[in-house]
Amino acid sequence: MIRYGKSSEMYLEYKSLFYDRDTNQLWSDLARRVGALYCRQPLREGCVVCGTAFKEPTFIFHGAPYSFCADCGHFNGHHEDTFEFAAQIYEAGMNETATVYMDRTRASFMERVDTIYSAKVVFMCDALRDLGEDPATLRYVDLGAGAGHFVMALRKAGMTRAIGYETSEELVDNTNVLFGEKLLRHNELDVLNDVAATVEADLISMIFSLEHVCALRSFLSALRSNPYCRYFYISVPTVSPTIVLEALFPHVMPRVLGLGHTHLFSDRSLERICQNFGLRRTAEWWFGANVFDLHRSISVLLGERPETNSAVVTWNDLMLPLIDALQLVFDERKLSSEVHLLTTIQR
Ligand SMILES: [Zn+2]
Repeated sequence: MIRYGKSSEMYLEYKSLFYDRDTNQLWSDLARRVGALYCRQPLREGCVVCGTAFKEPTFIFHGAPYSFCADCGHFNGHHEDTFEFAAQIYEAGMNETATVYMDRTRASFMERVDTIYSAKVVFMCDALRDLGEDPATLRYVDLGAGAGHFVMALRKAGMTRAIGYETSEELVDNTNVLFGEKLLRHNELDVLNDVAATVEADLISMIFSLEHVCALRSFLSALRSNPYCRYFYISVPTVSPTIVLEALFPHVMPRVLGLGHTHLFSDRSLERICQNFGLRRTAEWWFGANVFDLHRSISVLLGERPETNSAVVTWNDLMLPLIDALQLVFDERKLSSEVHLLTTIQR
């Protein structure tokens, strides 16, 4: 099963604050601080996915070199993504910046569930039903669950045996208190492999958290050794022309590279992962915000210059009606900014 495209309405509604000059400034300053920290990490020995040594950088972004793996097509930053780096990102202000947008009420939490996460659950359940499964009977564990929006989306859709694991105690406590039940459990970052190897789940999901795992290959080996787990569902950021756009607009908040994303998946590197770790690609959904990001980057730039400031309205009028049709071109070529992938673990 393969799907392409999705309406950009959600991005425009939920991420419209990034068009705001002050908000953009806040996040792009943070991206620069995180980039400076990343440059100080030790060099990676080779590609995150296949270990191949790096050649010349494709470009430098926020001071760090990045390149495509000559063997598997994965896009790697040349520095390591260490436990210490993850901790330093939060010290640099990521936590405070993210907290500004944390849901404070059940209503705002559920609104985010409905607008962003429920569609991912519908796609995943359609794919499971295609395989002859009854999704309501399975056990689900979401790793790197954040505030638990995906877990809540699963429960709301009838998957009552869904829980999440998250390393931020603050997020775990907030959500569990907000809903009065133990939706989320806390885990330290260095025991993630143990959780993946032993947790009693038919399906393990990772919604934009696999890219933050420090040692990808040992993690995937651990997950594969889990005797209960039959399905692995991921959403990951992917290689697309947007990486070049972000390098060109360093003062616009990056959504794909930087801010803790030190490597990106591609159709080819995902295929390599599946081959190496006995995963079968069962269903995939390619969509993204490449055109939204193009529109946003130009809009921010126009707004910053007094001589072009008044052109923002014209830019919006001309461009907004085109976003979905243009985005579908990226999606159908698997050059969108993200992919959602259900894999079956081969035994
Ligand atoms: Zn590689």
